Amino acid sequence: MRFSTKAIHAAIEPDPTYGSIMTPIHLTSTYVQEELGKNKGYEYARVSNPTRTVLERQIAALEGGKEGLAFGSGMAAISTLFALLKSGDHVIASRNVYGGVYRLGKHVLKNFDLDFEFVDTTDLDHVKKSVKPNTRMVYVETPTNPTMEITDLAAVAKFCRTKGFISVVDNTFATPYLQSPLAFGIDIIVHSATKYLNGHSDMLGGLIVLNDSKVTEQLRFLQKSIGGIMSPFEAWMCLRGIKTLVVRMDRHNRNAIDVAAFLNKHRKVRKVNYPGLVSHPQHRLATKQMRGFGGMIAFDLGTLEKAKSLLKRVKLCSLAESLGGVETLISHPATMTHASIPAEERKKIGVTDGLVRLSVGIEDVEDIIADLKQALAGV
Ligand SMILES: *Cc1c(COP(=O)(O)O)cnc(C)c1O
Repeated sequence: MRFSTKAIHAAIEPDPTYGSIMTPIHLTSTYVQEELGKNKGYEYARVSNPTRTVLERQIAALEGGKEGLAFGSGMAAISTLFALLKSGDHVIASRNVYGGVYRLGKHVLKNFDLDFEFVDTTDLDHVKKSVKPNTRMVYVETPTNPTMEITDLAAVAKFCRTKGFISVVDNTFATPYLQSPLAFGIDIIVHSATKYLNGHSDMLGGLIVLNDSKVTEQLRFLQKSIGGIMSPFEAWMCLRGIKTLVVRMDRHNRNAIDVAAFLNKHRKVRKVNYPGLVSHPQHRLATKQMRGFGGMIAFDLGTLEKAKSLLKRVKLCSLAESLGGVETLISHPATMTHASIPAEERKKIGVTDGLVRLSVGIEDVEDIIADLKQALAGV
């Protein structure tokens, strides 16, 4: 099966009871057992649920992995993943990771004696220099949020293999349609399914995909022990969203290329971060490891005042956190998604006060550009 066919059929089978073509939502906390020690594969819904199982198999198929695990949010998935570590372990992470991951590492897991170091993973030398005797994991986001930095997946995977580190990639921005980290030798993929996978801004979810059966066993143990699972309704919503992933991503890609080109030519825009632009410093790497550049763009207007002014004037673009839905969202990373990062750090990683982030939706691109044009005119 090719990708689009997989997105619709991979793990989906008609329900054996009545033949309903859609996966039923199994709203149950427990399962009746025929006799002691004899059940149909399900015992208690925190451990497993048939609707969730279908989604877990579906995302594994799309990522080219053996196993999938579903959680109540991206952060629940990522928290469970970090529970693979032990106190005293050192994690090297991309300096531009999702703000919530930075907060989790610096303010929560620090209390459990886990040492998170945020470095520029676009240059493998920085990763190499950060290695300590207690390093266990390299956690990469590519493209990063919001500056759209690209990390070389093959290089990171190879380095981690030689060192025995667990390599992890947050594939939320690219989705399995545009990027396949496991194919480059990465060990574990995490997703916020809240974003493109669901695609309709109406649920929260997190996913993990991997090949290693021993680590899968550990993660399933952690999933049921910590309990941050995805509900059957959310699993169903996500399954439904995934069926249109390809058509949505194709449109996100096309629209974002046009919007990036428009912004790039606009005299009031200082800089546009979009890996699809030839001016992006890692455009070639993006072309090599991605099958499209996605729908996320960040651009710099120079000052907080100008960013504020633009955000007040947009009409079609909605001012909101989050991304990956069908509607165009616009946000201000420095005061919204990245507010938990100290100002000094923010500056270092390129999250300037004038930076605006766009999650380009699938509306008519002419309307998106017209809205940005009228808003920029007033800035
Ligand atoms: C949103 C997001 C997360 C966190 O996911 P939630 O579903 O909001 O918990 C993690 N990584 C990236 C890249 C995200 O965009």
